[in-house]
Amino acid sequence: MLRVCSSSGLWAPLVLLFLPALTLSEFFTAGGSGAGHAEESEWFDLSYPIDEDTIFYPGQKYEGFELSKDVQGFNQTATGNYPFWYAQYSFCMGEHGGTHVDAPFHFNKLGWKLNEIPLKRLVDVPAAVIDVETDVFALRNPDEFALEIKHIMEHEAKYGQIPFNSVVLVRTGWARYWPNKQRYLGWNNSTGHSPTMHFPGLSGPAADWLVRERHIVGLGIDSPSPDLGNAAANQVVHIITLGSQVYIIENVAYLDVLLKKTRKQPQFGGVAHSNCNLRLFVLPMKTGGTGAPARILAHCKPNVVDSHPHGAVGSTPTHFSQY
Ligand SMILES: [Zn+2]
Repeated sequence: MLRVCSSSGLWAPLVLLFLPALTLSEFFTAGGSGAGHAEESEWFDLSYPIDEDTIFYPGQKYEGFELSKDVQGFNQTATGNYPFWYAQYSFCMGEHGGTHVDAPFHFNKLGWKLNEIPLKRLVDVPAAVIDVETDVFALRNPDEFALEIKHIMEHEAKYGQIPFNSVVLVRTGWARYWPNKQRYLGWNNSTGHSPTMHFPGLSGPAADWLVRERHIVGLGIDSPSPDLGNAAANQVVHIITLGSQVYIIENVAYLDVLLKKTRKQPQFGGVAHSNCNLRLFVLPMKTGGTGAPARILAHCKPNVVDSHPHGAVGSTPTHFSQY
């Protein structure tokens, strides 16, 4: 159930910054370039729309999204011959709902708040997608899957080393339950609420390995949290990553679409590879808070060899990592 925001005017100006939520098909039409042509650059929107279906992490003051129409209509009192259309909305929501970024300060007293994360860690960042959906749903209890170091090793053996200073996105396949709140959060009774949650995530050692050995700047997942639902009490992945100034992206959307369109599978065995130099644009709202909804955009550049290896023209990278 939605709660009504307090009457503070704090949120009103933020509506001007709130990007309209396009559906994926609309996005391709509006901003995609050459969708369906692997040789051309493509953009992908990895964010869920923010609306009444948005799922929030439990325990916040506002566990819902409220969009209220302050004004909407033609202004009949305009001082000209023609009335003009005027619409202005207000919205209210908790920080940790939908596709959103956790700032280091969320679990790190000395960590960056959202507006303090350096832009170079958010914009045009190399990215890797570790797809473990098959492993997750091979288990009797998929909601107890924890990504381990061995899964990272398997990914690197197949797709190459995860780039340093990248954002790692973990695809568990849990997005199939969005926006069914009870299934997605893994509440195991029918009351609509439960003290325990059940969904897949990462083990502490795997998160620690990514931070120490690959120096990741961000960790994303297509579930409510990189900490397993049943491990919410200790939050070890949050503490390890945010404690090292590595931000988290929760409820990452549409990774299936991204992989389907950009990742080649080996036809006759051998090493699989992507046809994509994947870059991420992580755009949370500029608040001084512990987290906020974010637009997550992925850019797939054609994976071609640079014809200017000395970088004399533009800033074309001299090599491309797989993802
Ligand atoms: Zn969060």
